[in-house]
Amino acid sequence: MELVSRHILVHYNEIALKGKNRGFFEKLLVESLYVAFRGLEVQDIRRLSGRILAEFEKEYSYQEIAERLHEVIGISHFELTEKVDQNLEAIQSSIGSFIQDKDVESFAIYTRRSNKDFPMNSVETNRALGSFVVNEKGWKVSIDAPELPIYVYLVGDAAYIAYHRDVGSGGMPYGTAGPVGILLSGGIDSPVAAYRMIRRGTSPIFIHFHSAPYTDQASQDKVVDLAKHLMRYKRSAPLYLVPFADLQRKIVQETKASYRVILYRRFMMRTAEAIAKKHGGKALVTGEALGQVASQTLENLATIDSVTQMPILRPLIGHDKLDIVREAEKIGTYETSIEPHDDCCSYLMPQQPATKSRNEQLEEAEQVFDIDQEVQALIEKSERIKVGTPPREKKKD
Ligand code: ATP
Ligand code: MG
Repeated sequence: MELVSRHILVHYNEIALKGKNRGFFEKLLVESLYVAFRGLEVQDIRRLSGRILAEFEKEYSYQEIAERLHEVIGISHFELTEKVDQNLEAIQSSIGSFIQDKDVESFAIYTRRSNKDFPMNSVETNRALGSFVVNEKGWKVSIDAPELPIYVYLVGDAAYIAYHRDVGSGGMPYGTAGPVGILLSGGIDSPVAAYRMIRRGTSPIFIHFHSAPYTDQASQDKVVDLAKHLMRYKRSAPLYLVPFADLQRKIVQETKASYRVILYRRFMMRTAEAIAKKHGGKALVTGEALGQVASQTLENLATIDSVTQMPILRPLIGHDKLDIVREAEKIGTYETSIEPHDDCCSYLMPQQPATKSRNEQLEEAEQVFDIDQEVQALIEKSERIKVGTPPREKKKD
């Protein structure tokens, strides 16, 4: 598509329903747009009659704009528009030059009028502009399935005209639901779980456990890449890389082999909870799906859950692996996830992990550890990096 534009209209759906919170949601969506458009010459982004208008200093191509907007959460659809004066002649002249060299069979005009000062209502405007196009080109009107839809917005003191509408990613604007700790492995599942939660408006605190020096640097780099991909065109988020090997060795030395995986998980959860708490996190997120591996039985999920206060959210719990793989492909994490890597849990993995653990047994096994101290040590040894885009510096006005 060879469209270019300086004036982009962004529409949102779900957030419009949010009553009292509406202003808050819109503000965060505006912030998200500033972050996503970083590097472009933005003049202003503001709310305008139930939509958001982004104005640029110069024209940008459809590709440049759409690539970014498709990654912004909370958008139902968007349009690259042409801005003209708010009068019929100006609108007709704009439409006239657009359709001049076009060759289609059907079209429709969809007018939305927010400025009630405009002398015609939206139906009258549709008719006037429709007859204009029919006179010029002889095309048929097809309201339901036009080959060329023409959208006309009469908002503020201008008219915005668009000839193409793109669907956005939906979801809730970034950050509206608050922070959550996301346990991110290098596997296929957790990036999909992370994507889903980010789409529901959470801001992530990524936490990854690695077994360096027994696992290689590439396995950490992979997680960094995954987090970066998930945070494309989004405000920055922390990623903690937690060295887990020392504690794993102790667990191996001190406890029964069949409990190992669950004990690793319990320490991961406690540590993740403590890290998330430091950032105001309200829940933890994992990529677990019921029955997928030995640690994901109902019994084991319960014994993993029982060590934290925060709710553990498992957005993939009822999903088949194949569906998760498809989603990973769609969101673009699959290719990275399937790169070969050392998993911290395959390091020192027992032959036969218990599928039915009981809390009492695990608590007994854990008696040899000073749990708080172990968790504290993991946090102190962890490395913290940032992924995503730093927030904009606000102009003082
Ligand atoms: P994934 O594909 O997400 O690795 P999985 O099917 O391989 O999931 P497990 O390895 O049992 O399942 O992990 C279950 C969940 O525990 C993961 O989805 C992730 O949320 C968390 N997890 C596992 N290993 C790690 C790790 N090294 N660092 C952080 N979180 C982890
Ligand atoms: Mg895994």
